[in-house]
Amino acid sequence: MSKKVETVMDKIVSLCKRRGFIFQSSEIYGGLSSIYDYGPLGAELKKNIKNFWWKWMVQSHANIVGLDSSILMSPRIWEASGHVEGFTDPLVDCKKCKHRFRADLLENMHVCPDCGGELTEPRQFNLMFKTHMGPVEENASIVYLRPETAQGIYVNFLNVLNSTRQKVPFGIAQIGKAFRNEITTENFIFRTREFEQMEMQYFVKPGTDTEWFEHWKKDRMEYYKALGIHSEKLRFQQHGEDELAHYAAAAFDIQYEFPFGWKELEGIHNRTDFDLKKHQEFSGKDLSYFDEECRERYIPYIVETSAGADRTVLTVLADAYEEQQLEKDKRTVLHFHPAVAPIKAGIFPLVKRDGMPELAHKITDILKPHYNVFYDAGGAVGRRYRRQDEIGTPFCITVDSETLENETVTVRERDSMQQERIKIDGLLMYLFNKIEKGD
Ligand code: ATP
Repeated sequence: MSKKVETVMDKIVSLCKRRGFIFQSSEIYGGLSSIYDYGPLGAELKKNIKNFWWKWMVQSHANIVGLDSSILMSPRIWEASGHVEGFTDPLVDCKKCKHRFRADLLENMHVCPDCGGELTEPRQFNLMFKTHMGPVEENASIVYLRPETAQGIYVNFLNVLNSTRQKVPFGIAQIGKAFRNEITTENFIFRTREFEQMEMQYFVKPGTDTEWFEHWKKDRMEYYKALGIHSEKLRFQQHGEDELAHYAAAAFDIQYEFPFGWKELEGIHNRTDFDLKKHQEFSGKDLSYFDEECRERYIPYIVETSAGADRTVLTVLADAYEEQQLEKDKRTVLHFHPAVAPIKAGIFPLVKRDGMPELAHKITDILKPHYNVFYDAGGAVGRRYRRQDEIGTPFCITVDSETLENETVTVRERDSMQQERIKIDGLLMYLFNKIEKGD
């Protein structure tokens, strides 16, 4: 029997499990389909990615503020937004093998891609998870797990406006969980039923929306490049007239070339005044804004940038993964941007004597309050380098005999494998410059 060829995705999935980035949820119970847990390194990576986004979107703009709204909200919100009625995907079943598919993702809507059997007519399937609030399971107590974070921002528009002295144009940003009962899940953490979104909703004066849409389109592409993603693997994909969501006047996706093809990473949408108008209508609250500059009252238009945190984790992993053939051996490297690398530096005593472990521990103590660093004295230094390369640690600091004489250590850089000698008391600044400023 021929052995299945291991794809790049297989290798990434297995590295993620082996080194503690990502595990299948509920694994000891056989696993829960398309839900994942982040292990020690994955939790660091994802947290760093979310911080990178927050810094880029919120911290560096005086007119963008953060929000952390709840997952459970009034069910009226989902009626107003159109989700109760329209957040559906067309579901088809194979009459022969009983597999289920999303009809709009199939090349042929009549033939099963798995067994060639005949498919049923498409039925609309609502993707929202329903649950009940309170002790009685009746229709009046239905609540939904939010399928997007955006609505939490729209319904807090007035609260934020009244509490922050922001003026249009301004943005509200949020990172949070979203849930979709996806019909088909695919490709590891690419499409899951529980995931995190990083969304920014920018409120603008009607008529300036096209300009702002172009601004954010450009800015978001710059962001992925700053995150270190290969630019040739990023592209825009415009939604055609027939693909546009009911709320959108224009929509572009930023796509990444994953090992399984070009797929959406982020959506940038001109949502017009659709959302605020709907919430005004359903809530009966006036959501208009008085623009003091032009002495005009209007409902702002919204330009949305909506990225998946988990999808960015997968992008960063796929983009960083490399198997390198070196002169004498092979190494697997994750070329993470230092700002998102789970561990910033490995700290090694060259040998376990002559006071080297004590000094290496001392350096670990100096750096630990500022950066996630890892002390390792196990095995040959070459092996220790390889272990750190495989998890994307950008720097390895080694204490050797020279350290004992002149208080310098070697710092070995992951990608170039070049080493330089640095004073111990200059290490923190060295890391700061590399991690925060990319010097
Ligand atoms: P699709 O058409 O692929 O189902 P979508 O266009 O509905 O996706 P959006 O509603 O625009 O996606 O969501 C914004 C972002 O949220 C996506 O670009 C993606 O990064 C992320 N996202 C959406 N659904 C999922 C999911 N099931 N799993 C992981 N990330 C998701």
